[in-house]
Amino acid sequence: MKCVFCGKDLAKNHETIERRIKGRLYYVKNVPADVCKFCGEVYIDDEVVSSINKALEKERQNELTGTEVVDFRELSGLSNNHSETPNKKLALI
Ligand SMILES: [Zn+2]
Repeated sequence: MKCVFCGKDLAKNHETIERRIKGRLYYVKNVPADVCKFCGEVYIDDEVVSSINKALEKERQNELTGTEVVDFRELSGLSNNHSETPNKKLALI
């Protein structure tokens, strides 16, 4: 897998990403990602992103307000092997 912007190799990493679900901003830590060593672009599996979205929809049931920080590894309903899956990638810009 090469970076679509600069063509350099990607490295496996864990990133903190932002997701906005129904108006609430979440920071999700430890998301398995591929990161461009050159320009820093972050790529995350579609499957991982949709898992996060589904899990955060459930998380929303607690009545906290404002920004929340969650850990990818603690989100409910996620399997542990996403980082091993070479799947199609989604660029988060
Ligand atoms: Zn790049």
